[in-house]
Amino acid sequence: MKPDGLTEFLADYPGMSLQPTRHSGTIIRGQFHFKANGSGLATEDAFELEILINKRFPSEIPEVRETAGKIPKTGDYHVNPDGTLCLGSHLRLKKALLEAPDLVSFTEKCLVPYLFNVSIKLRDGGDFVTGELAHGTAGIIYDYMEMFGLSESGQIVYALQLLGTKKRIANKKLCPCGCRLRLGRCPLHHRLNIIRPAAPRSWFSKHRSDVETRRFG
Ligand SMILES: [Zn+2]
Repeated sequence: MKPDGLTEFLADYPGMSLQPTRHSGTIIRGQFHFKANGSGLATEDAFELEILINKRFPSEIPEVRETAGKIPKTGDYHVNPDGTLCLGSHLRLKKALLEAPDLVSFTEKCLVPYLFNVSIKLRDGGDFVTGELAHGTAGIIYDYMEMFGLSESGQIVYALQLLGTKKRIANKKLCPCGCRLRLGRCPLHHRLNIIRPAAPRSWFSKHRSDVETRRFG
């Protein structure tokens, strides 16, 4: 089983090629050349990448590693301790894959924006120029504020709790946005319903307590 969008991906990024593997997933390796712009900046760059695509893609998020040591392996550059690139919060990546479950969309929506930030940072220094790439608990909360349209960390924790609750029951609870309405009567419920299929309820419950403990811990 090849992941959806693989043929288009290989055509769009001719430096990348399929690697033989004894595992059931797909491995793509090579030079990833791209152009991107945003926040009034533009870049054209190339990175040596290895992309591991699980056979359960798009349910499982692909793992991407940079193999030539061009990206410093630090939190500054959003590289995880295991060497995978931190392309965004789990929920943001899941949502992106839910909206467009193919490899080319994943590349354009998640990978290229990350590499754009890295490329600009390597060239000009400073922080990542676009803020939506979450890292650490503070980053995750910031990311969710944007995704959910909420402004306080307590609201995020409560929204995650509601996402861990059956929709019918959650809609009867007080809305996290502070409108004093039941969730089902506030437009926020549309936004949460878009995010809901990104993970099982049990994931949201566990994630809520992770976010909450680290926030207070
Ligand atoms: Zn509300």
